[in-house]
Amino acid sequence: MSVIAFAKNWNGKFKNSTYELISYAKNIADQLKSKLIVVSIGEVEEEELKSLGKYGAERIVSVNDPQMNTLISGVYARVISELAEKESASLIVLSDNNSGKAIAPRVSVRVKAGMVAAVQELPISLDPFIVKKSVFSGKAFGHVQIDSQVKVITIAKNCLGLVENQVDCAIEKFVPEVKSDLYKIQVLSEDQQTNKIILADADLVVSAGRGMKSPNNWRPVEELAEVLGAATACSRPVSDEGWRGHEEHVGQTGKVIAPNLYIAAGISGAIQHVAGISRSKCIVAINTDPEAPIFGIADFGILGDAMDVLPKLTEAVRKSKA
Ligand code: FAD
Repeated sequence: MSVIAFAKNWNGKFKNSTYELISYAKNIADQLKSKLIVVSIGEVEEEELKSLGKYGAERIVSVNDPQMNTLISGVYARVISELAEKESASLIVLSDNNSGKAIAPRVSVRVKAGMVAAVQELPISLDPFIVKKSVFSGKAFGHVQIDSQVKVITIAKNCLGLVENQVDCAIEKFVPEVKSDLYKIQVLSEDQQTNKIILADADLVVSAGRGMKSPNNWRPVEELAEVLGAATACSRPVSDEGWRGHEEHVGQTGKVIAPNLYIAAGISGAIQHVAGISRSKCIVAINTDPEAPIFGIADFGILGDAMDVLPKLTEAVRKSKA
């Protein structure tokens, strides 16, 4: 029996979310007294693979195939399933990011596993296997039991954090039997946005709502994000109005994020908005209305006009950095 964790890379590099996944999978593998096998797909250099050893990856299986540098969900699912069957895996763990969401259901069908997405913390119990996840747009928690022999879970960001557990890791090559007909799509080119921090991965987020009053008032939001090295986000009405792009919209019908710091300027804190940000580690709210619901969930509240407060915060960050 073994636990398999899929270590996603971005252009050959791992992110903190990958390391958190390894920390999580290692914890469960130790509790189950099972071995942890980490699978990496696509070209990743040995030094980068070894970085997974800091979080407990003793055995790393690398599918170092340039054809697999681009995510093709069906192919990745085939590779992980083949390895899971070969290694008699009892649990397969992926991150609840775009790739995990695309791969995990396919893997669960292939290996006939019960699956739970966006698990919030370590399992409540291993036998029976019960995990906790948020339901009804964050209004409640569900405890879900998986009864199948093989189980697949995806884990939400910040469900455990990084836990260092340095081990000597062995890297081995794996050549899966992937038939060419699984490559059903071809990615002909990729245009990557540079100098922009991707919201889904961001540790720091500066977000703003209708309280900014006009799309022309966004410069203070962008300036604070720039000095902090943060991503920008917004409430739904702001993107519905076309003030900002839909890729910035967070909440029940937008992105669900879990940064370390979420600054909400001119956002009321409606339940549908909070559904997308409630797992942030620290929430700072800036609002003119002392009764705004956002203050009810904020760790720090600033009562004031965002157009005054944001430039002052930017100045303070600049000074402290200097
Ligand atoms: P408002 O509610 O208009 O709040 C503006 C806030 O700014 C107020 O609190 C005000 O006091 C404050 N303010 C005003 N002037 C200033 C100033 N100068 N400085 C500082 N503060 C100021 N919303 C989402 O965000 N995400 C979702 O995914 C989402 N999904 C939804 C799904 C459904 C099915 C429904 C029905 C609604 C959904 N909504 C969603 C909309 C949600 O209900 C709220 O209407 C929305 O979040 C409000 O956005 P807001 O806070 O920017 O605007």
